[in-house]
Amino acid sequence: MSFYEKIGVKPLINASETYTNLGGSLMDPRTVQAMQEAGQSFVDLGELLTAVCNKAAELTHNEAAFVTTGAAGGVILSAAACICGADTEKLDQLPHVGEFEKNEIIVFDGAVRNIIPYWKLTGLTGARIVGAEPTVEGLLNAVNEHTAAVFLFPASLYEEDLPKCEEVIPVLKEKGVTVVVDAAAQLPPRSNLWYYTKELGADLAVYSGGKHIQGPQSTGLIVGRKDLIRACRLAASPNARIGRAFKTGKEELAGFITALEIFCTESDEERFTRQDKKLEELQRILLKEIPDLQLDYRTEGRLGTYQPLLLLTLPKGMTAQDCNKYTRAMENPIDIGVYPPEFHMPENIVFINAYNLKEEEVPVVAKALIDFIYQA
Ligand SMILES: *Cc1c(COP(=O)(O)O)cnc(C)c1O
Repeated sequence: MSFYEKIGVKPLINASETYTNLGGSLMDPRTVQAMQEAGQSFVDLGELLTAVCNKAAELTHNEAAFVTTGAAGGVILSAAACICGADTEKLDQLPHVGEFEKNEIIVFDGAVRNIIPYWKLTGLTGARIVGAEPTVEGLLNAVNEHTAAVFLFPASLYEEDLPKCEEVIPVLKEKGVTVVVDAAAQLPPRSNLWYYTKELGADLAVYSGGKHIQGPQSTGLIVGRKDLIRACRLAASPNARIGRAFKTGKEELAGFITALEIFCTESDEERFTRQDKKLEELQRILLKEIPDLQLDYRTEGRLGTYQPLLLLTLPKGMTAQDCNKYTRAMENPIDIGVYPPEFHMPENIVFINAYNLKEEEVPVVAKALIDFIYQA
């Protein structure tokens, strides 16, 4: 009997995204094995952290790196680092930052704040969050002597009215402002692991370990400037400071670094082709059954990343919501991609992303879609 059977929870097929609500992604057997092996011995945790973080920096071509519990943990630690630096007296005082000279974090105002709510987490440090008008000028106007950092949350399809990182980061750096990019889901390509820091000049960038990197769901990565990464580590577990509440254990550290190595070793093209084959097979089955089905193939993922995506236009009167409800209620539940309202997509468009889809699940997903279209 499987674990999920024993606990009485039905597993589901993920044809949509690396959503945290569905479990993020699945780990490679090599990653699981590394976690299991790491769990068999005691180790000096500080030594393990150093070794894992050094390797993460090397794999991502960054000056330094810190492995934490998730991109959310990464955002909080980064904010703490920008406010306090490596000053442990200050780090010990968080969230009481009222007297500190740098105690403000700037984020863009606008619709994006409701769509990507992770900016709120910077406030857990005690920092005052300052909204800036979403223009380069607006951002510069918001900067003052109390500014600890500007936090950016890029995702090309969300960014409709926002200036892009490419525009903003060089201008801020010229003014000497610290910039942190939350790029949690901006993978692949793997070059995005160094793009924001090495190419654009951001001071820190943050990624989810449990999404596209396919590490343990409870991991994340911060990369960038050595002194700020050192401050992140001082703020983090095992120290009894703000980051003690998001502790990575030896098993997560082992799993994350193994997953990162696999992610960085596989070329973007190999990864893309692997997903593409599954989508091609899905198209083949769908069109064989319903030849006039409207399918749209894209080489850009939902958030503008490098992954293939299949859009299926449901017959008139059907909605992606209803389709998802139908497939989630099946004997083998499937999560089908539904665009949230902020994408302004027609409500009868379903998206299928093969990132988390197993080969043997492709015919199951095809059949579910066909059944849904025929039952109505
Ligand atoms: C998913 C996500 C997070 C949270 O990441 P975790 O790894 O789950 O902590 C933060 N920021 C953005 C933009 C995300 O997409």
